[in-house]
Amino acid sequence: MPKIKILPPHEAQKIAAGQVIERPAHVIKELIENAIDANASRILIYIEDGGKQLMRVVDNGHGMDREDAQLCLTRHATSKICSVDELSSLTSHGFRGEALACIAAAGKITILTRQAESSEGTKVSVSVENNIVIEACACLEGTDITVTDLFYTMPARAKFLKKRETEIYQITQIVHALSLAYPSRHFQLFIDEKLSINCPPHTTSINRCASIWGPMVTHHLIALSEQTVKVAGLTISGAITRPTMLRYDRKNIFFLVNNRWITNQHLGRALLKGYGNILPHGRYPLACLTLHIDPTQIDINTHPKKEEILFAHPRIVEQAITDTVHAALEANTSQYLERIPSEHSYSPGGPQTLVSSISFHAAPSLPGTITRNIATSHEIPHAIIPQSTPSQIKLATNPETITSHEQMSTIQNDTGWLQSFKLLGQLHDTYLLLEHQDGLYIIDQHAAHERVLYELFGTQQAQIPTVNLLFTHTIPCSTEDLALLEPHLELFHEHGIMIEQFGKNQLIVKAIPIHVKNVPVEDLIQQTIEWIREYNHLDESQFATTIHNKLQAQMACKAAVKAGDSLSLQQMEKLLEELNQCPNRFSCPHGRPTGFLIPLADIEKQCRRR
Ligand code: ADP
Ligand code: MG
Repeated sequence: MPKIKILPPHEAQKIAAGQVIERPAHVIKELIENAIDANASRILIYIEDGGKQLMRVVDNGHGMDREDAQLCLTRHATSKICSVDELSSLTSHGFRGEALACIAAAGKITILTRQAESSEGTKVSVSVENNIVIEACACLEGTDITVTDLFYTMPARAKFLKKRETEIYQITQIVHALSLAYPSRHFQLFIDEKLSINCPPHTTSINRCASIWGPMVTHHLIALSEQTVKVAGLTISGAITRPTMLRYDRKNIFFLVNNRWITNQHLGRALLKGYGNILPHGRYPLACLTLHIDPTQIDINTHPKKEEILFAHPRIVEQAITDTVHAALEANTSQYLERIPSEHSYSPGGPQTLVSSISFHAAPSLPGTITRNIATSHEIPHAIIPQSTPSQIKLATNPETITSHEQMSTIQNDTGWLQSFKLLGQLHDTYLLLEHQDGLYIIDQHAAHERVLYELFGTQQAQIPTVNLLFTHTIPCSTEDLALLEPHLELFHEHGIMIEQFGKNQLIVKAIPIHVKNVPVEDLIQQTIEWIREYNHLDESQFATTIHNKLQAQMACKAAVKAGDSLSLQQMEKLLEELNQCPNRFSCPHGRPTGFLIPLADIEKQCRRR
């Protein structure tokens, strides 16, 4: 008895659809790409409930005649190629002729289309019996495609749809990427009927970057001067931000290769390499790199959603990216950066190289008046006060015997901890040196202060003194970030950061905790927006706890004294006393140790006393 059966076409189509359409953003991508391929100069995108309920893309492109409209939902129906050989000279996005067929298998699709020369339009839809229905209709020149009830045919897939915000974010990324690839076309994204992204036509891609990333980013942007690499038939252009404008994730780094948005971590690494050693750990620029390459040097037919491509000479492309970025930064950043030779690294037999580190200008502090209990006791001002002589904090009456960090952790609730130390002073304006009967204890002042502030922000949220800003501070914020942030403003309020939405594109800061008064509050907000995006899939209480902890740690990190801040004796003593009160005094909120002991025995060994 034979077991093999040929699947009915509509079932086979659902399987194929599963690969091409995993989420609403993939539908949007295919529809926008078709509009671009149809040479539309204006593309309007509408979504409802993160695209789950409705997606609609309206273009003013060349439209389809009735015959094409009837065929376009059929699998492998394409006007773009006749044979695979044509891929090497392809300029359109589409070539497989399967997007519309897959979309029709996954949701309910309706197409209205009209060519300039015809007086009547065509409406295409799919009946419950899976038949294609063609009707005459009135419609504007171009094509208008609506997709509703995505995955109603595939309940298993429907379960994997993410929260509305997550889907919106993915769709926004697609719209950003494609509008960066085509700056001269007009893109508008409407989310639940509200205009969320408006990218009017621009002549240059740097202007498009500016309209996408907003005014806060614009004056940190550098245009890359076009570089050509003859061997690979490659040119690179685009824009990147100076190291004065960085983000906590790579979501704003776009690579467009022959106008396709592609993800490729090697290219990402090459870009970051171009920044040399000037990016702080975990911070990333905003960037849009536009690569045009001889189509014979790439293979675009490697990924079901066309998100990846293969390069014939990947190393050449990566090196060219690094060099272009490096050259642009070298030429543009000198006025913003102060180079301080900090370290000579010597490789035996090789040349001695000078590694330079770069320091950034601090953001200006916000002017303000202080309200609520002005408990400045926890503040360790960053003033530079001459060092006093080492002093004895308190002599231990009953000194503890501590030999290692591990052993220290076991006594962390012992408030007598501090008494067994004698403060000797500060090393390199970064470490506090303490004498202990078992050796030398070294404390990292930043990690220690971070811990102190973290505990303070956590336990005394309600009593944290805040500063009412005399001149309220406004922060530009994109509409989509605002939409994401708006339901969670309370999170900030609970930490004493009083922000409110102000108009369509701004936030207003009314008060901030005194400890973070010198911290650029826009950074905190930007970082929080990214966390909201990242953790949106968590359930409500996990989400709130995660964001609270992250915000609390970030405020502590930003407000804490830094390595290189000279501290007076009183400031050091204050810090030690406060650290002593912390239940988790042996690590900072990020898990780094606040200090460690160099055992006396080791010191004696080094000095050959033993
Ligand atoms: P592909 O883009 O790979 O050809 P699709 O399934 O996306 O496959 O589209 C099938 C065909 O339908 C296209 O080749 C094109 O001829 C036509 N088509 C789709 N969308 C549009 C549109 N917005 N305007 C004009 N023609 C379109
Ligand atoms: Mg297509």
